[in-house]
Amino acid sequence: RQEQFRALRDVEPLTKDGTRIALKMNAGLMVDLPQLADSGADGIGLFRTELQFMIASTMPKADEQEAFYRNVLKQAKGRPVTFRTLDIGGDKVLPYFRGDAEENPALGWRAIRLSLDRPGLLRTQMRALLKASAGGELKMMLPMVTEVAEIHAARDLLQKEVQHLSKFGHGLPRRLQFGVMLEVPALMWQLDELMQAVDFVSVGSNDLFQFSMAVDRGNARVSDRFDNLGRPFLRILRDIVRAGDKHGTPVTLCGEMAGKPLSSMALFGIGFRSVSMSPTAIGPVKAMLLQLDLRTLSEELNRRLDHPRPDDGPVRAFLMRFAEE
Ligand code: PEP
Ligand code: MG
Repeated sequence: RQEQFRALRDVEPLTKDGTRIALKMNAGLMVDLPQLADSGADGIGLFRTELQFMIASTMPKADEQEAFYRNVLKQAKGRPVTFRTLDIGGDKVLPYFRGDAEENPALGWRAIRLSLDRPGLLRTQMRALLKASAGGELKMMLPMVTEVAEIHAARDLLQKEVQHLSKFGHGLPRRLQFGVMLEVPALMWQLDELMQAVDFVSVGSNDLFQFSMAVDRGNARVSDRFDNLGRPFLRILRDIVRAGDKHGTPVTLCGEMAGKPLSSMALFGIGFRSVSMSPTAIGPVKAMLLQLDLRTLSEELNRRLDHPRPDDGPVRAFLMRFAEE
């Protein structure tokens, strides 16, 4: 099977009825980079920058961060890389940087919250990313955004760094794309403002599922209790894609579900045209979509979400039947 998937590496990811789907990979360390060419991914849809910080014994210095990002971009050889700014706190702790003990770390001082409260940390990282991308493209996104106001606050910091660098004669990225992760349900009621405030959105379905269903993603007793292919979550995800389409804002999904062929099939069925996953999942997902009659799937799946009938049964069972047929 590995061989079979490898043979698909250079095959364009088109559904059977001709829709192009972008398949990107998730990464976080230099060791992941060779997989970009090996998997045939369309780029890195999620680069988890906190990993460099998590494996270090002290806070990486500005020039170490810059050298690291420069190296990532060099190894990516022109394929796009979306860097996520530091997502620390919650399940991602740095041994040398601890806040107060928290009763609910997942809901605590983390990610963009921590970054906005410690702007020196975020500005250092933004500067390193800007310098490393000089003359090229920089795609940067913020984790765990709750309110659109946080995006404006972070963008102001980025603007300050851009001004600072240009004042001192540094090169700047030729193109700068600024996006956010959609992981907190409150953003669902700010979708219009959100789509207008950013260049792109990436759905962090691991956290969005955890917060939507109120189940700890790390607690096996509850994490599988509700189905991420059930009606509630698929409707949530579909509302996001539709808002993106309405405003012409590209939407990707980069949580674990993107890497499971059955789940990504459902994602394409509700309108996703871009997903990012672990590199080993790209072959299996591509093998699925090459055989996918997307139009028929969309019709049947959307009908089940819009007008469920008593005898429909679980959506997952329908998806499995559809996949088998
Ligand atoms: C997610 O929450 O879905 C996500 C991609 O981010 P992480 O798994 O790093 O929290
Ligand atoms: Mg997350």
